[in-house]
Amino acid sequence: MAYRIAVIGLGKIAMDQHLPCIAKNKDFQLVAGVSRNAKLDSVPCFESLAALIAGGIAVDAVALCTPPSVRLAMARQALDAGYHVLIEKPPTPTVGEMVAMIDYARAKKRVLYATWHSRYNKAVDEAKARLAGKHITKMKVIWREDVRRWHPNQEWIWEPGGFGVFDPGINALSIVTKIMPEPIFVERAVIEVPSNKATPIAAQIKFKHADGGSANMSADFDWRQTGEQTWEIEIATADGMSLFLKRGGSILEINGKQIMEAPLEEYELIYEHFPELLKRGETFADVAPLQLVCDCFMLGRPALVEAFV
Ligand code: NAP
Repeated sequence: MAYRIAVIGLGKIAMDQHLPCIAKNKDFQLVAGVSRNAKLDSVPCFESLAALIAGGIAVDAVALCTPPSVRLAMARQALDAGYHVLIEKPPTPTVGEMVAMIDYARAKKRVLYATWHSRYNKAVDEAKARLAGKHITKMKVIWREDVRRWHPNQEWIWEPGGFGVFDPGINALSIVTKIMPEPIFVERAVIEVPSNKATPIAAQIKFKHADGGSANMSADFDWRQTGEQTWEIEIATADGMSLFLKRGGSILEINGKQIMEAPLEEYELIYEHFPELLKRGETFADVAPLQLVCDCFMLGRPALVEAFV
């Protein structure tokens, strides 16, 4: 029998990815939507999660597609109602809230699935396999995109807890923390914040290995890039391999030669993974990408830049 799922927060990503992927996946049946403004024609819609719960519709799981700042309270409410919970990235505004969410799901014996969509790419899996057991001497992340194109009229993203440029930047870090054979740590960062906003529009980060050994590892996030968007990760290893992930992790080059171009099916793969977790009753929620972002805010040097309008 298909899992009965409700989508909470009918905004851009729910409409672009969650609803179409649920519609074409036989393991799920959409039974409701929750939004204060939007409605769906095909299923009953409610203005709040509380109204959905009170409505008496049978629900096995919810997909929380709201901004991160409201996720912990919503996840707890859903878990209290006996629902399993899938959450968009970034999972929560702080590590403390994410740990609390994981603990709460365990206590309620329900599945919590923190999705990290950029990890769901066959070229990313191949990069991880190629880097296994190697020592990294260089890592250069360039993640530059146009905020107006990807987050039109989204004011929450500029408010505290909205992550600013770390909203896409955490996608890069979710790939990095998946494929790197050893954990990395933030050494220092410069965080550029527009004078009229609370969250960063750009950031330059230096990373280090745990042993402090020399490594050239950096990330450059920028939300002011118009035209072609750049989502690239370049890695070199001590034994002379150079690995290049392009187009958000869908194209993989090894030593200058393209070896894979994977189809973009991140959300399809997420909704293939979720039933496996539900069958096993297993929570799957890696804190590592969020920890790196929080560490950037902890160690970063703020720089005020021109207002963004
Ligand atoms: P969005 O378009 O602003 O949609 C967010 C939804 O959440 C809206 O339906 C809004 O609906 C609801 N919402 C907003 N504030 C709320 C609040 N305080 N309480 C309850 N509901 C609230 O944002 P989005 O782009 O879809 O992003 C949502 C999440 O998906 C973010 O974490 C983002 O990082 C992630 N994501 C986005 C993209 C993308 O391309 N935009 C890609 C991948 C992942 P109502 O106001 O009608 O209730």
